[in-house]
Amino acid sequence: MRVLSGIQPTGRFHWGNYLGAIRQYIDLQHGNEAYYFIADLHALTTVREPARLRQNTLDAALDLLALGLDPEKANLFRQSDVPEISELYWLLTTVAPMGLLERCVAYKDKKEKGLPADAGLFTYPVLMSADILAYDSEVVPVGADQVQHIEVCRDLAGSFNALFGPTFVLPKAKTLEASAKVPGLDGEKMSKSYDNTIEVFEDLKSARKKIMRITTDARPMEEPKEPEGDHLFQLYSLFAGPADREAMAAKYRQGGFGYGEVKKALADAAEAYFAEARARRAELAARPDRVNEILADGASRARLKASEVLKRAQHNCGLK
Ligand code: ATP
Ligand code: MG
Repeated sequence: MRVLSGIQPTGRFHWGNYLGAIRQYIDLQHGNEAYYFIADLHALTTVREPARLRQNTLDAALDLLALGLDPEKANLFRQSDVPEISELYWLLTTVAPMGLLERCVAYKDKKEKGLPADAGLFTYPVLMSADILAYDSEVVPVGADQVQHIEVCRDLAGSFNALFGPTFVLPKAKTLEASAKVPGLDGEKMSKSYDNTIEVFEDLKSARKKIMRITTDARPMEEPKEPEGDHLFQLYSLFAGPADREAMAAKYRQGGFGYGEVKKALADAAEAYFAEARARRAELAARPDRVNEILADGASRARLKASEVLKRAQHNCGLK
């Protein structure tokens, strides 16, 4: 299978990014042709400081490598290093209905909140479609919030194919059932833009402080509680093994314990879960040249595939 996914360098990666998306990247790099990119063109709609965008991009690469992305198995690259994407983006823009883009959540949310939105945010799903279609991708591992955008991609690819003959492969989204929408500190979707995140490589003390802030209900300790549907329990389950998870669920149902205890168990479990990656990241951070080499290699392999697909699209619509 050809697998592709991208992640924005809009800030440091959080638990939601890892559990919903990055963990799938790592699993799917085995036995598949995998393309993973750092979406710096997308990030431009929110990050307007050049030095920060550069730093975020390097951090994103370091985080992904530390978490287990293997450059020998998967192609890791910067989106902007593949200029074919921007050309494909235009071809797809010409078949993208306004109404379809107006219904996309990222743009709709901003508009409903009365916030200014630029054309970049409006056409974001078209650029994302170009990203996906450029590699004949079959599977796109993502969190639940991106599933709509993959549908848009299928729509655009279908329209192009209907007009100009078979050109693009129609991709499918792949989400993980338990972690397609990881909750943040406030119980809403954990997101870099909502200030409710815990970062994967956050300073341990600061992570513990944030965990203590996770919202819970005000029921007395003695009262039995149902673990399903409690976002603190959901987070704990994502890091704990099945036996610990069951033991914690039994405690909830029995009552007579405090949320402080669950929070401490969550902090310990998350700390242990990322300990190895944390050590690997420290080693990698000392070798930024190696990281740049990996990104350059990944980009040259990605360009080979993307230029083949771009040529096909250009030919089919009469440009070449
Ligand atoms: P932003 O707020 O800047 O959009 P984000 O936190 O939503 O940032 P993205 O770069 O948009 O992160 O998303 C990267 C990947 O992580 C996507 O596949 C997305 O679906 C996934 N993802 C983001 N947040 C969560 C979450 N809370 N649970 C599961 N997956 C998530
Ligand atoms: Mg997002």
